[in-house]
Formats: sequence, C-alpha cells, structure tokens
Amino acid sequence: MKMKVTITLPLIILIALPLFWSIPNSSSIENPNLSWEPELNSESTLIGSSSETQVNVEPLETIWDNAISIKVLFAADEEELSNSYWTPYGYYYWRLYAYDILEKVNLRLVQKFGVYFNGWEYVTWHSDNSDYVNRLYEMVNELGWRSNRVYNVLIGFTGTSMSPAYGVVDSSISAILIHWKVYWADDNLLEHELGHIFRLHDHYEGDPHYHDDCIMSKEPVWQDLWGEDGYIWGVFAYEPRVFFTTNYCSLCAYTLKANKDRYMYWWYVIWGKYKVFPV
Ligand SMILES: [Zn+2]
Ligand SMILES: [Zn+2]
Repeated sequence: MKMKVTITLPLIILIALPLFWSIPNSSSIENPNLSWEPELNSESTLIGSSSETQVNVEPLETIWDNAISIKVLFAADEEELSNSYWTPYGYYYWRLYAYDILEKVNLRLVQKFGVYFNGWEYVTWHSDNSDYVNRLYEMVNELGWRSNRVYNVLIGFTGTSMSPAYGVVDSSISAILIHWKVYWADDNLLEHELGHIFRLHDHYEGDPHYHDDCIMSKEPVWQDLWGEDGYIWGVFAYEPRVFFTTNYCSLCAYTLKANKDRYMYWWYVIWGKYKVFPV
C-alpha cells in the first residue's frame, strides 16, 4: 500500500527565514562606562503590564516535575581548567563549582517561575585573553556555538579577569561568558546573566526600576557584611544591587514568565513559540 506524505515544513522555513534576515545584528555595547557586565545585542523584549507573583503551594517535587528544563552546555577556557573555588564544602574545580552554583540558582528559579537549567555537558575552549567582548565571540566561534535542541544555552567560563566585566551576554544567541567573582556573589551573578537569556534588561540609572529590589538593578548598594550559607564575608564596598537580592521587580517577573518557554532565538525564529524538545 502506498502512503502519501505531505511535508510542508521546509516551505514554511523557506518563507519564514528571509523575513527575519533583516534583523540587525548589532554588537554595540550599551553604557560601556557603566558596565561591569555589558549586555550585547539585546533584542527588544515582550514588555507588558506587571502581574502579581503568586504563592505556589505545590510540593517541590511536583514543581520540578512540571518545570521547563533548559539544557546547558558548560565550557571552560584553559585557565579555568586549573582554577579552584572556595565553597562551604571545600575547594571545587570548575565543573563542580559551575554545577553547584547553578543548582543554587535553579532552586530559586524553579520555585518562582517553573523553569530550571540542566547542566548537560562540559567542554573546553582556548582563549587568547582578549577583552570581554571579543572573548565571548572567540568562544562562540571556536565552539561553533549555535543554540539548538540538544544544547539550548551556552555558559562559558574564563579563568582570567575580563575587567571591568564579570559576565557578558549575547542574548540573541543564548551565550554567556562568566569570570567568577566570589562564592557569596556568584549565584546572583549567574542568575542575573540567565535573566538576560529571558530578555530581561539591566536597570541602569534613569530606568524606572533602577531603585527596585530587583536582581537586574545596577544601582550601587553599600554593604558592610554579607552572610550566605552560614558564612559571613566583609564586603565594605558599593556593589551593584545584583549581588544582594534574588528578587525580581514586577516588570522582570512578568517578562521572565512570558519568555520562559521561548528563550531560544534560533528555534524561536523558525518555529515561533519554542517548546522544549526531549533529547
Ligand atoms: Zn546585566
Ligand atoms: Zn527588574
């Protein structure tokens, strides 16, 4: 028996692609003098009215089961391979440290937004220790990175300073590069960068949410001491609010919820609303 199969998908892609080819791919840096963490190529976002955060009373296990899983490819440069980082459980090499910090972030994201990042594989790349912008694209090009159904987000690490940046993001290709700061700040640093993947924007001075208790706020906040996981650090400095809050302003909470299942640019372009693919 003969079966007739009609394939319409390639046609849709052929039609859809040219429509999006004209999206400008600007790599300009916003507010370079303010940026300890410039966001590159930030796309315009789905912005809407605020919404109340609902109290979730589901058991945690159910929340994890029903959450959206976003698959992460971790990548370290050659200097990061020989770094180790202090944690309350001892010194960790890069893989374990990245995993551990991501788990702290996941516990918050899954409870607030029903989404988490799943460390899927670890690879290495070679950096020339160029400035932070070039280093991000060095990694992206070297790994031939493109967000796909197996690896949704690339989180890279560099073992040498990218001063003045700790993190740099190109949200249009779901790629992040981080140079870790210190244990008490690193979970917030990573959570902030992941926020950009969901199209959240930094709140610089002049932004209506600059003074909000929001992890995307760059407002300098003075801190004497900071306690985390049973330890206390002396900070005695102004640091961006990013490092001292895990809350989201109403706009960021709304935007993250709206974008949590369509964070992947390339698949989003082709398919419309991206849904998580089983691997
Ligand atoms: Zn940022
Ligand atoms: Zn915000």
